[in-house]
Amino acid sequence: MTRNGTSFGLFIDGRWRDGDGALENRNPAAPGEVISTHALATPADVDEAYAAARAAAPGWRRTSPIARGEILYRAAALLAERADAIAAELTAEEGKTLAEARGEAGRAAAILRFFAGECAQPMGDVLPSAAERTLLYTAREPLGVVCVITPWNFPIAIPAWKIAPALAYGNTVVFKPSDLTPLCAIRLAEALGEAGLPAGVLNLLTGMPGQIGDALTSHAEADAISFTGSNPVGRAIQAAAVPRGVKVQLELGGKNPVIVLPDADLDLAVDLTMRGAMWSTGQKCTATSRAIVHPSIADAFTERVVAAARELRVGDGAAERTNVGPLVSERQRDRVLEYLDVARGEGHELLAGGGPADGDGWFVEPTVYGGVGPDSRIGQEEIFGPVLGLMTAGDLDEALRIANSVEFGLSASLITRDLAAALAFAREAEVGVVHVNSETAGAEPQAPFGGMKRSSSHSREQGKSAVDFFTDTKTIYITG
Ligand code: NAD
Repeated sequence: MTRNGTSFGLFIDGRWRDGDGALENRNPAAPGEVISTHALATPADVDEAYAAARAAAPGWRRTSPIARGEILYRAAALLAERADAIAAELTAEEGKTLAEARGEAGRAAAILRFFAGECAQPMGDVLPSAAERTLLYTAREPLGVVCVITPWNFPIAIPAWKIAPALAYGNTVVFKPSDLTPLCAIRLAEALGEAGLPAGVLNLLTGMPGQIGDALTSHAEADAISFTGSNPVGRAIQAAAVPRGVKVQLELGGKNPVIVLPDADLDLAVDLTMRGAMWSTGQKCTATSRAIVHPSIADAFTERVVAAARELRVGDGAAERTNVGPLVSERQRDRVLEYLDVARGEGHELLAGGGPADGDGWFVEPTVYGGVGPDSRIGQEEIFGPVLGLMTAGDLDEALRIANSVEFGLSASLITRDLAAALAFAREAEVGVVHVNSETAGAEPQAPFGGMKRSSSHSREQGKSAVDFFTDTKTIYITG
């Protein structure tokens, strides 16, 4: 219904229709290849999408949560059935390996299932009242129309973890995915539409931020905005929306450390570090970008990390042999190459990689630097590519000081067998997600996810925490 060959439209008020012009969706492993073309939304389409979402809001709010959950269960089943096809498209438009893309497609289905289940959970509390014959209770009410803006690096999981709770708790949605990954967004909207979502409850606008960004985030009908992406864009949206009384949720960048103590299982430490740093080509907000290692094991750790980096096979994520796919776009590739120049300028010791990798796509070699100063730009800034900086610290306190010395606070990992160290790390790490003996990346749908410090707006996504953003609390006194 969406498709005209590989051409896709906007989804507004339950209908697929044309926009203005065409957005070409290209394969980052072979940029000459256009996978699909997508309608470009205009500010007039933004108005229509909000009008449809506003008109659908009262009916959706009154729909029983159980019925809302049934739709989410059906959409989850459709995504699970289509997971292999979605994974192939995800790899073609975003670049990550097929194995990771399959994992992400399955995760999107799991997220929808989780929030389908939440629709049958209690949605308030009964409280004792000081007054006689009074029933005092709270209820959770939807916010109204929620604007959802998502990045390209998890092109189906992140939209799912915003849209599923928004819908589960009775909101309607205007959704703008990244212009680099519109196809996964189409597949999510198709599944929800086919699962029986009423017209106007979810509206999908593909297009360019320069053309529709302001119209979307400054629209009078937007009651809330849930945004995941870069810090500058997120903060600008927040600065404009909050004074207007719009509720804003931001999930932003990270500069995530792994700390390796002398008692660590070294094979495990190397494996977790490399997975965290290089999988998804380092394009995860939770990617490992700093390894802080005790001097007594630094040589052995460095030797193994460097050997592992050199063994990684860079190439098209669709090839089963590939470990590291391309960067998502020429712009991202150039941004990472600029950081490699910065590293040269700062004088870090290049141990592996350090430049573009062979091939027509936006490939960069898995890169490792030694002797990275914690205060250097490579030690402080989010690179969002396959680049790891090695540092040393004499004890856990020093390692924690380095780990916490950045503006971000998303995730951190400690590799140790020492229970007291694990407990101290869990207490002292200034991050929203702590891992001990697991990689910095990784989040399960039933658990809250989000960052401290400048990594978020301090709300949490997923799990039971999602209700806090997507609803208001109503307090009700009934005296009879
Ligand atoms: P980005 O900020 O460039 O874009 C994010 C989204 O915002 C895209 O849909 C983009 O089109 C849109 N956008 C851009 N300018 C806009 C404007 N003026 N108005 C409205 N919308 C606008 O980020 P990106 O490059 O897509 O993603 C990478 C960033 O996302 C990294 O910083 C990464 O750390 C972060 N990220 C964070 C999390 C998290 O949960 N904390 C998860 C994934 C990615």
